[in-house]
Amino acid sequence: MLLYNSNNNKLQNKKKQKFSPAIGFFADLLFPKNCISCGKEKTFLCQDCFSLIDPSPYQYCLCAKPQRIIGKGKCGRCRDRHLSGLYSAADFEQKILKNCVHKFKYSPYLKDLAYPLAYLIILHFEALKKKMPLSSVLMPVPLFPKKERERGFNQSEEMAKILSQAWQAELAPDSLIKIKNTAAQAGLGKEEREKNLQNSFRLKNGVTVKGKIIYLVDDVYTTGATMEECAKTLKEAGAAQVWGITAAREFGKW
Ligand SMILES: [Zn+2]
Ligand SMILES: [Zn+2]
Repeated sequence: MLLYNSNNNKLQNKKKQKFSPAIGFFADLLFPKNCISCGKEKTFLCQDCFSLIDPSPYQYCLCAKPQRIIGKGKCGRCRDRHLSGLYSAADFEQKILKNCVHKFKYSPYLKDLAYPLAYLIILHFEALKKKMPLSSVLMPVPLFPKKERERGFNQSEEMAKILSQAWQAELAPDSLIKIKNTAAQAGLGKEEREKNLQNSFRLKNGVTVKGKIIYLVDDVYTTGATMEECAKTLKEAGAAQVWGITAAREFGKW
């Protein structure tokens, strides 16, 4: 059984006590380690604060109205969307979760917060009793290379790596490439977001996704424009199904 260990901000097997003090020490030098929520020392997010985030026990549709449709993927209205369905672990409006995503994605870029965010997804899948189908592939939503260099990492890839280890699922981190340096999505309406992202992804040469079940990983699902555009690229290349997985969902933003 996997547990979130707030002492080193990692996931670890309950039986095998794996610690990586070297990594922890290095992070301490770069940035003082305090819980982003309560200030407790030596962790970026302590166990108590993490447990205040509620993982959702429901699967909701891609569309505006939150609809509890466990196991069905999506409603009739969303039939034409390229995304097959979505797994969002928790409501973004939870203060600690919002803070966690911000500190992960924006300066000071606390990369280790990928662990609690990925663990939230694992808890969501456990609540739904959902298992990754064999032969499914985890694919992080890519960043434009310049943006990834600025941040030092791709936040979606950090989460996907952890999920791939936890679920023993194949990780395909460089298969999808962002070829357009699009304007920031924040502040744009739904249609503007879609237009902004058109033709901004492509498959890396030589990568084949024909017949595959792909799970796209990202931190937050807002209008879904980014994931939909990725799904379109993958479906056009022959992917059988393309599902979305995010740690948070921003409701009421479309
Ligand atoms: Zn705390
Ligand atoms: Zn729907």
